[in-house]
Amino acid sequence: MTADDLFDLTIIGAGPTGLFAAYYAGFRGLRTKLIDSQPDLGGQVTALYPDKFIYDVAGFPKILGKDLVRNLVDQAMQYHPAVHLDENVQAMNRQDGAITLRTDAGEHRTKVVLISAGIGAFTPKTYKRPELDQWIGKGLAFAVRSKEDYRGKRLLVVGGGDSALDWALGLVDYAKSITLIHRRDGFRAHEDSVKKLFASPINVKLFYELRALRGDDRVREAVIYNNKTQQEDIVEIDAVLAFLGLVSNLGPIREWGLAIQDDSIVVSTKMETNLPGIYAAGDIAIYPGKLKLIATGFGEAATAVNNAMTFINPNASAFPGHSSSIMEQKEKAAAKAH
Ligand SMILES: Cc1cc2nc3c(=O)[nH]c(=O)nc-3n(C[C@H](O)[C@H](O)[C@H](O)COP(=O)(O)OP(=O)(O)OC[C@H]3O[C@@H](n4cnc5c(N)ncnc54)[C@H](O)[C@@H]3O)c2cc1C
Repeated sequence: MTADDLFDLTIIGAGPTGLFAAYYAGFRGLRTKLIDSQPDLGGQVTALYPDKFIYDVAGFPKILGKDLVRNLVDQAMQYHPAVHLDENVQAMNRQDGAITLRTDAGEHRTKVVLISAGIGAFTPKTYKRPELDQWIGKGLAFAVRSKEDYRGKRLLVVGGGDSALDWALGLVDYAKSITLIHRRDGFRAHEDSVKKLFASPINVKLFYELRALRGDDRVREAVIYNNKTQQEDIVEIDAVLAFLGLVSNLGPIREWGLAIQDDSIVVSTKMETNLPGIYAAGDIAIYPGKLKLIATGFGEAATAVNNAMTFINPNASAFPGHSSSIMEQKEKAAAKAH
């Protein structure tokens, strides 16, 4: 391992918080690395709702999840951070004055760590029933990657939470037909979405559950049953979207000696954890009055990185200056040099 392997800041988790932190780290001139266990950048937004509009990001009356992530990536990549995807950080140790992070793919050395690991490494819940899960990739999915995948399809949506209702409603203009089954008559979704569901062309079947899927190389029909009467119905379909919840796991992060409360890392107003040189921000960080929102994650990312700057260089100021003035000065200096 050479000195080149030692980064200033390593960010665990490349969701909205980690991506904005990478921008700030680059702006402060820190040599930065981003590590994420997912195959793509963008955290929950990319994995769970890339095609949904978000209405509460400052400066955007509404923005599609995937567009917000693209903008965050463009902003962060100006400074060329090293990016390691599909790597789950499993261990954190201190060695020779540096911090070593061990992932399933190797080791990373860094002066400072920012943990922006959201709800931990997460995956949508599957059925855990081989006779159903065998249809994954053949029409059965647990998250939407692109609405286009459902254009002209006869779709069965399973679930009664926000994800199920939002996606069923969001796909009305794409799918040929949609049937939504839910095992109860109460929904865990926004009241307004429930009203919209019943006013929509979606065929809603309450007290229904999925019993079996049938087909050939793709799913062609679903056997659903009424859990009160046991009556079975066959629905002809091309695709099934089952929203059964998420399995999220702080996993190894619990073992790193961090102060944990309610599955989150306790931080100070500077986003410091109880361990020197380790900061946390975004959904994973907790303090009195915490709100788990993209907007708060952005502010925490800026606070964490700029305070981390003073940990790396005690002579540096935590205040980064105003980007508007600093970039203008840099551009003028570059023009003069030519
Ligand atoms: C359906 C849905 C709709 C939402 N709508 C809104 C909304 O309208 N407005 C709003 O403000 N918020 C919304 N949210 C919440 C918002 O998405 C989160 O607050 C936000 O994603 C948190 O960002 P983050 O970067 O802190 O964490 P995340 O987005 O969770 O990203 C964390 C990343 O860390 C990675 N990671 C975790 N552990 C490890 C590890 N050990 N090693 C490597 N990588 C790791 C994960 O893979 C993940 O990619 C919504 C959430 C959902 C599920």
